[in-house]
Amino acid sequence: MKTIGLLGGMSWESTVGYYRAINEGIKDSLGGLHSAKIAMYSVDFDTIEQLQHSGDWEETAKILCTAAMNVQLAGADFLLICTNTMHKVAPQIENTLNIPLLHIADATAEVLVTKGIKKVGLLGTAFTMEQDFYKGRLKDKYGLTVLVPDQTDREIVHSVIYQELCLGQSIPSSKIEFLRIIESLANQGAEAVILGCTEIGMLVEQADTNITLLDTTYIHAQKAVEWAI
Ligand code: GLU
Repeated sequence: MKTIGLLGGMSWESTVGYYRAINEGIKDSLGGLHSAKIAMYSVDFDTIEQLQHSGDWEETAKILCTAAMNVQLAGADFLLICTNTMHKVAPQIENTLNIPLLHIADATAEVLVTKGIKKVGLLGTAFTMEQDFYKGRLKDKYGLTVLVPDQTDREIVHSVIYQELCLGQSIPSSKIEFLRIIESLANQGAEAVILGCTEIGMLVEQADTNITLLDTTYIHAQKAVEWAI
């Protein structure tokens, strides 16, 4: 079994989900007392969040490149960045490492392609919904059409992520809002909706709606299990 490298803490609430999903995946595949071999570096999210919102992505890249090097030194065979948003600096991290990066957008797109889905909705931070580093990869590499909510709804999603979910709060009124936004993306033609932020699965799950949801934490973790074994 290969050693899975995790760059976590963004937020730690979602890293808990990764740790559980990866270990459950290994247990399901190998049985008994098997558990995942993991090397993890978990950052202080307060620093990262401030740099994100002041637009200092170069400094976030420096911090994450150093952390990723430590994960590699700890014996990881490949690396997962346990957040969609910080894939903005994935190219810099990839250039620093000798081990491969398991990109969250690739893992997600592969599921969409397998399901034959061509038009997909995307929920995530404003950075993920508005910038090109994530949507662009889905479009250019996989030919997917990506729909995002309008500006008012993007602001709601962004603020729930940072002010509630990253603090471990799952609030019923926010869940109602997210389900409304998911439905509105489906009404605009989305055949499925990507939960493109690793905390959204704490708020909404497949049982809440008939619209197909792609939980990026789960998908990324499952792909890591495949790579490991
Ligand atoms: N975990 C979130 C994501 O998947 C947001 C936190 C962050 O900015 O990294 O995008």
